[in-house]
Amino acid sequence: MAYAKSIIDDIFGGIRPAARALDKSASTIQGWYEAGTIPQKHWEDVIEHAKAFDHYLTPDDFFPVSSPAMSSHGYPFEKLHCLTIDDFHRPDIETLLSLGEHYLDLSVQKSPDRSVLRGKTLVNLFFENSTRTEKSFELAGKRLGADVISMQVASSSVKKGETLLDTATTLNAMNPDLLVVRHGSSGAPALLSQKVSCSVINAGDGMHAHPTQALLDALTLRQAFDGDTDGLRIAICGDILHSRVARSNVKLLNMLGVEVRLVGPPTLLPTDVDRWGVDVFHDMKTGLKGCDVVMMLRLQLERMSGAFVPSKREYFHFHGLDRTKLAYAKTGAKVMHPGPMNRGIEISSDIADDPDISLITQQVETGVAMRMGILHALSNAQDGVRS
Ligand code: ASP
Repeated sequence: MAYAKSIIDDIFGGIRPAARALDKSASTIQGWYEAGTIPQKHWEDVIEHAKAFDHYLTPDDFFPVSSPAMSSHGYPFEKLHCLTIDDFHRPDIETLLSLGEHYLDLSVQKSPDRSVLRGKTLVNLFFENSTRTEKSFELAGKRLGADVISMQVASSSVKKGETLLDTATTLNAMNPDLLVVRHGSSGAPALLSQKVSCSVINAGDGMHAHPTQALLDALTLRQAFDGDTDGLRIAICGDILHSRVARSNVKLLNMLGVEVRLVGPPTLLPTDVDRWGVDVFHDMKTGLKGCDVVMMLRLQLERMSGAFVPSKREYFHFHGLDRTKLAYAKTGAKVMHPGPMNRGIEISSDIADDPDISLITQQVETGVAMRMGILHALSNAQDGVRS
């Protein structure tokens, strides 16, 4: 499929000459080269500059000729589950991100490939409420042609006292290929993965991990910063203690060379935070200094048994993101939030809804494409094991 390679090599004469001709950094062009695809927003530019080399490209030349690459640096993607970022090496992550990018480009064209998961069954098993993650997996599965079933746990036998493992055995007997699980207890998806014979995807377990959110956040950043996230400085702010999003993001962003800072009141920081390999700040003014991106987290009131903050009003005053605090970051800094948002508590509507600043809608859009990429990679790895 490496159409990007042939455009870069055959038309422009290699990575460096292409970087010069297109006025981009060599690392950006190298990213396209390794991914095998060129992000859609650059197609017009590439078409224009290729003319100077006597090549008249059309958008059709930017579609992969065969299925997307399933390897990065010659290292095949062979993981059967997506449970935590720790299970992946950098090449796995690159493969997943380039698949996500591939589907992002295709979804803009509204031409997904429904044969990828044809004949496969995806079961959504959500023990905790979710709107965007559940719907995102449902759409991702459907766009790739899978049969998708979403189990309403609230009305299922789980409420009648069935244990997690009984549920797993019952579901396994129905022979799904992909099981997407959200559970209030850390480790529940990992436990299930040992009991079922299909791929398990962790859609959030307790305060532990949310790997697909971290992947979609990384892809959103790559899109927003022209494929180049190396050296960016990001502040993850607010209720770090209860956040599986923060835990997965810190791991993934560290792996991608992003400088991560955590900013929050001492009561909302985990006691082991000094082992996370990041700088920690308690006030927004110093924490946001020089940041390219500010990622706000929801105050997770449902996980709080006592008083972690004096009052919501005071919390917003000291830790909520408004224009005054955003001005501490770099000029033009972008804002992210995994949702759902508590407007007026951790973020002002004014910031959340400003399309020049906020990447929050892009996160949702990218989420579907990223999950298509994850489902594709896992399903492909399953087929490899079976063949
Ligand atoms: N949606 C994210 C999660 O499931 C963040 C949140 O709920 O605040 O962890």
